[in-house]
Amino acid sequence: MSFMFEKVAVLGIGLIGSSLCHVMRQKGLAKTIVGHAKSEETRRVALEIGLVDSIYATASEAVQGADLVIMCVPVGACGSLAAEIGSYLMQGAILTDVGSVKGAIVRDCRPHVPNGVHFIPGHPIAGTEQSGPRSGFAELFENRWCILTPLEGGDPLATAKLESFWQACGSMTELMTADHHDLVLAITSHLPHLIAYTTVATASDLESVTDTEVIKYSASGFRDFTRIAASDPTMWRDVFLNNKDAVLEMLGRFTEELAVLQRAVRWGDGETLFNLFTRAREARRNIIAAGQDTAAPNFGRVPTKK
Ligand code: NAP
Repeated sequence: MSFMFEKVAVLGIGLIGSSLCHVMRQKGLAKTIVGHAKSEETRRVALEIGLVDSIYATASEAVQGADLVIMCVPVGACGSLAAEIGSYLMQGAILTDVGSVKGAIVRDCRPHVPNGVHFIPGHPIAGTEQSGPRSGFAELFENRWCILTPLEGGDPLATAKLESFWQACGSMTELMTADHHDLVLAITSHLPHLIAYTTVATASDLESVTDTEVIKYSASGFRDFTRIAASDPTMWRDVFLNNKDAVLEMLGRFTEELAVLQRAVRWGDGETLFNLFTRAREARRNIIAAGQDTAAPNFGRVPTKK
């Protein structure tokens, strides 16, 4: 049996790392899968549920002889990880990552990648608010986009191989520059998270509405913000520390739009409100038409009985 990769090293076995292990096993993409996790508990769980064939406490041991190395740790941890593994990477190997920010990853990792190793940053646009080695599942990347941001002068054959890997994991792939990625994700992902965190914080600071009322009536919209705001704090701290310029640009535009809405509410300008809400509805229809969410009422949630 021939495999796409002989030995894949997954560094960081959280939601994304463990999902990659599941899908690689399910689709037979790697002859051997090895892992690295810094916590003993994660190493124990990874072996217990069969995510990896072997697991190492140090990343430098894990990457030796690997033809594909995938860094699945928070954005802020990638630079030091690359520094640790740089001199242990095999010639001809592909080094990639899954971080939600790309410019900072290139800045922090590239200096540590030796000649002869293909460094191709990546970002699967797939996730949940869960984390840790038990949260992964093989279908996470199914029908989702994975963006690769190859460096100028990189080997197109290596990029094509990494694209084939993500396609075999169920994803559709697209290539763009790291800067463009960071701008696009600032509006599609980073700003919505910032708004969710703010909304949840505002509700918990209210004095005239009790916490119990917020929880009881959350199905009217608030609940969906709390799902986003439940994401891993380390991951999201690193996203905002590392995509500052693009997030500030989008936040500026958002604040201007918000001021327009605020004015329309204050002056009872129904036409402005109606037109803006109609445009927003169109955006939702386009997302459904592109297969990136369900048209089922209430996001397809099955009502639960108490
Ligand atoms: P996660 O479930 O919280 O797992 C993070 C993993 O990184 C854990 O295995 C943890 O190890 C390890 N780790 C944390 N700090 C580390 C450090 N300083 N050095 C080495 N290892 C460290 O996170 P995740 O959701 O899989 O996210 C991983 C990456 O994927 C992030 O860069 C994130 O931006 C990106 N991403 C996330 C999503 C999402 O929705 N979650 C989507 C797309 C991309 P221990 O278990 O040993 O502590």
